[in-house]
Amino acid sequence: MINKRLAVEVLSRDQHNISRSNMSVNAVKVLHRLNRAGYQAYLVGGGVRDLLLDQEPKDFDIATDATPEQIKDLFRNCRLIGRRFRLAHILFGREVIEVATLRGHHQETDTEKLAKQSDGGMLLRDNVYGTIDEDAERRDFTVNALYYNVADYSIIAYGGGIDDLEAGILRMIGDPETRYKEDPVRMLRAIRFATKLDMIMSPETEKPIKTMAPLLSSIPAPRLFEEYQKLFLSGKALANYHMLNEYNLFQQLFPVCADLLENNMQGKESALYQLVCKNTDLRLANDQRVTPAFIIAAFLWNPIEARAQAVMVEAELSYYDAMMVAMNDICDQQCRSIAIPKRFTSMARDVWHLQLRLPRRSGAKAFKLLTHPKFRAGYDLLLLRGEIEGGEVEELAQWWTTFQHTTETIQRDMVRKLGAPKKRRRAPKKKPRTPE
Ligand code: ATP
Ligand code: MG
Repeated sequence: MINKRLAVEVLSRDQHNISRSNMSVNAVKVLHRLNRAGYQAYLVGGGVRDLLLDQEPKDFDIATDATPEQIKDLFRNCRLIGRRFRLAHILFGREVIEVATLRGHHQETDTEKLAKQSDGGMLLRDNVYGTIDEDAERRDFTVNALYYNVADYSIIAYGGGIDDLEAGILRMIGDPETRYKEDPVRMLRAIRFATKLDMIMSPETEKPIKTMAPLLSSIPAPRLFEEYQKLFLSGKALANYHMLNEYNLFQQLFPVCADLLENNMQGKESALYQLVCKNTDLRLANDQRVTPAFIIAAFLWNPIEARAQAVMVEAELSYYDAMMVAMNDICDQQCRSIAIPKRFTSMARDVWHLQLRLPRRSGAKAFKLLTHPKFRAGYDLLLLRGEIEGGEVEELAQWWTTFQHTTETIQRDMVRKLGAPKKRRRAPKKKPRTPE
């Protein structure tokens, strides 16, 4: 609970550069409709922050004193969602405007239906409504506690948010340790905003993170998948990778990679992670498509190989069969921290299978592989691996690069030079155990 009142600052219409013409037309419609119906209506959080920074907001969130039911009565295109936080989604085709009722502080007398906290201080449910002042105290960073009031076009800033925005300081509202306990995802958000907004965390905001990082293990895996996407698919993957490692957070998201990275940030594993992050950032900068599956496939490749080596020894399996076992093991283990939806794990599996198939090019195989629906992703991972590992892997990647960009006659010649197809060597079958 925060006892100290937050400082409030109001910038009138002529004291700031935010104009409705830079907002989503639909967000403006929602703001005006709420306001005309007699409710308070504010554009809040990242929308205001990014507009003040002359950046394009990712989404436009609205806060109001109307309850979810009152919002629903006002908009035909409205769905109420969420249990932990009840919210209204106003749907305009593909655009969703999120409208939240201003949140208040919990009282001892609140029923579990409204608010619930775990023994460790984590907020499990949070549906107590309040005033704008209280709502501001519940937000994470001062630069996110900014409200654009549609009634008079002013900006209401809490906790020195405007100064922090100008100085580039990311400052947690209230006592950072308590706030991280309430919601450990705020640690990931701190990293994400620091890199996205090019800001420095204030010392109190930064200090507890390294030691509190393990609290992330209590966060449901589906929520961490959302955060993973925001961290790695928003153009700042490389910067986030470095910072997450620095603050012991990467190992919370990717425990299966952590063992390989331990005391070895200069090794080939970290080099591959950095390369895939850099590549993803570049693709986004060039408006190329990215998928959460590819980064997962690349991150888990080294752990899979390492696990396969162990399985080969333990279970006396062939390399191929051991890789199949390792893919399942590592993928299952990873999904306990980040719930990767099936469509993405199945694409990652295709990419891994292709790493095993791409070396086998003789006869008609190479031509067939080119038509594989995930060939491009499989080849992309091979390229990255080649860049890091060199040697045979690099030569193989180069072979595929040439093969894709040459004439059919040369392609046939390239395949011919490889010689006749080899039979895959299988480990000798174990004798079935005879009952005693
Ligand atoms: P972006 O949309 O660019 O990721 P954002 O600041 O808008 O950044 P959202 O996740 O869209 O982030 O959340 C909107 C606002 O809700 C935030 O600005 C913040 O005020 C508040 N908020 C979101 N998540 C939390 C949280 N875990 N704890 C406290 N406040 C939060
Ligand atoms: Mg937002």
